[in-house]
Amino acid sequence: MSSTFLAVGNCGLYLEQGDITRSETDAVVNAANSGLRGGGGVDGAIHRAGGPEIMAECRQIIRQIGFLPPGQAVRTGGGRLPAQHVIHTVGPVWQGGHASEAEQLASCYRTSLDIARTWQCRSVAFPSISTGVYGYPLAQAAPVALRAVTADLRRQQAPDKVIFFLFDDRSYSAYAQALEQLAAETDT
Ligand code: ADP
Repeated sequence: MSSTFLAVGNCGLYLEQGDITRSETDAVVNAANSGLRGGGGVDGAIHRAGGPEIMAECRQIIRQIGFLPPGQAVRTGGGRLPAQHVIHTVGPVWQGGHASEAEQLASCYRTSLDIARTWQCRSVAFPSISTGVYGYPLAQAAPVALRAVTADLRRQQAPDKVIFFLFDDRSYSAYAQALEQLAAETDT
């Protein structure tokens, strides 16, 4: 049996398989690049579904800040997405595991949740950051992601609901296994 839900105080952490662009959460998180230029994977899907308004806001942000370093996040509107906000964060590129990748990945989740709280979002959807083109091994990324989110929810008690949208079977199983492990540790 694999887990798909974990209660963290008054908050709930959920795993779902599917396309994050359809998420009806208040915010969706984008696995962006440092130039916020759009691209393939989940980034391309969000810009295609959300329309050009999101890219226009991204360009404006980049004009102001130059580039977005790994581990940080910024917010734009959701354009035509059901979600009202898109939180763009830059995951680390996997370099073998000794280049602070885990710290940067955890920071992506924490800073995104900080922004979500600033905008009073009650629900947030995350993709599996860095495990596509950026090459972070799924079995290692899943526990880092889930631990970062649960630790943050435990401290802050908001937002009410965090959903990981896992696109394919492999990602879903890796997160389900990691969540089961985390739930077992939390019980003891
Ligand atoms: P990164 O560059 O951070 O590795 P990718 O977009 O290449 O980002 O991949 C991150 C994860 O997002 C991968 O598991 C990929 O399968 C997944 N993904 C791609 N499209 C979507 C989508 N529409 N909804 C949710 N997840 C998606």
